[in-house]
Amino acid sequence: MSSLKDKTNRQVTIIGGSIAGLTTGLALLKHGWDVQIYEATHGELEHRGAGIITHDALFDALKKLDVTSKDQIGVPIRTRKAFDKHGSIVRTIELEQIATSWGRLYQLLRNQFPTERYHSQKVLTHLEQSNESVSVQFADGSTIQSCMLVAADGIRSTVRQLLEPEAQPEYAGYVAWRGLINEHELSAYERKELFPYFTFCLPDGEQVLSYPIAGEQHQLSEGYRRCNVVWYRPAAKESTLQDLLTDIDGNNNGESIAPNKVKATTIAHMRQDAKKLLSPQHTALIGKLRQPFIQPIYDLTTACMAHGRIALLGDAAFTARPHLGVGITKAAEDSLCLANALNSYTSIVEALKHFDKQRQSKNRTWVNQSRELGAYLQAQLLSETERQHAMIHRTTEAVMCETAGLLK
Ligand SMILES: Cc1cc2nc3c(=O)[nH]c(=O)nc-3n(C[C@H](O)[C@H](O)[C@H](O)COP(=O)(O)OP(=O)(O)OC[C@H]3O[C@@H](n4cnc5c(N)ncnc54)[C@H](O)[C@@H]3O)c2cc1C
Repeated sequence: MSSLKDKTNRQVTIIGGSIAGLTTGLALLKHGWDVQIYEATHGELEHRGAGIITHDALFDALKKLDVTSKDQIGVPIRTRKAFDKHGSIVRTIELEQIATSWGRLYQLLRNQFPTERYHSQKVLTHLEQSNESVSVQFADGSTIQSCMLVAADGIRSTVRQLLEPEAQPEYAGYVAWRGLINEHELSAYERKELFPYFTFCLPDGEQVLSYPIAGEQHQLSEGYRRCNVVWYRPAAKESTLQDLLTDIDGNNNGESIAPNKVKATTIAHMRQDAKKLLSPQHTALIGKLRQPFIQPIYDLTTACMAHGRIALLGDAAFTARPHLGVGITKAAEDSLCLANALNSYTSIVEALKHFDKQRQSKNRTWVNQSRELGAYLQAQLLSETERQHAMIHRTTEAVMCETAGLLK
């Protein structure tokens, strides 16, 4: 058997150049692999996404990738506050965390990864593997061959659909309305009483939250940061969801909608509902969102993260609802585990089997825990037992402690 110590057996193709692709690229480069990343999108992705709550486990992983120190990443938050419909504070808890933007994390990873190894506008369409290698074909007709392939191509992963078509994202029954407000657009009251905190308002079967994040150019200084707002709302699959996903041109792909294509009437209805349901403070934030966008929430699990010489990781393998705030930590841990496994075995196939064994259980637990936290937000009816179980995570105390709280 040829050894993995031999450089000619160490070429790896990574499909997807977002968080999981970059953390894997960096981890494998560190171990001497010849890495090439292929990303479908044209240009930089850093303006994608919105707020991200971090965990110590993420900082541990970033440290191992030599990415950055903790204080460069985001905005520290010390306190969480919940408001009722009338604007009174009903609960306060202390929990120190750092909030940042998806773009800030992407930028830190991207700056660390060699440009000549990152190829944009490369959409994988087809793949084949033999005992020796994996060949892939891109939409532009080009092909490449390498010893192994990593699928970091997200929740709608083409690679996963080719290998494990039965693993499909399952709509959770609710959507997240998301948006950002520049710090200087907040009133003096909002800057003092809301902006520095992780805030909540919990109308029946819904959940809105806000927290401060880095600015558009990743600034962390006062006056230049942004307020991140998320509002989880039930949306029945066959009715409300279809209306929300129908864009300004009348198109609907049934799965997602581009941020700049949400209909003005849809946004106006959402803002009207805020007045009826939310605290005056959160209603005002919702009114100030520049370009509110919609993300339907999905669960995804796969039976296996290892398929011969192909590894699935990040959201391509397991997608957890956002309530634990674990997606990026999960991607980074998958990447490090894969690199360690490849370093410890002489066979890629055996290393990938070990990687799958190591990561399956934790990833599955996170998906299940996130599903439990969000169950009370679902549009579909729950059985009495499910409803009772969901209600454990519905109290103000539970939502405040468990949402992106300390990971077990
Ligand atoms: C409302 C919400 C809030 C969230 N909050 C948090 C939080 O607080 N903390 C946290 O850690 N996580 C959070 N997440 C989750 C986090 O954003 C994701 O887990 C993370 O971005 C997934 O990274 P990824 O690289 O696996 O996938 P993605 O970011 O989806 O990247 C996949 C990449 O693959 C590319 N691609 C797709 N198909 C192909 C192809 N055929 N060929 C080539 N390239 C392809 C795509 O263009 C994309 O760039 C949240 C998610 C949501 C929806």
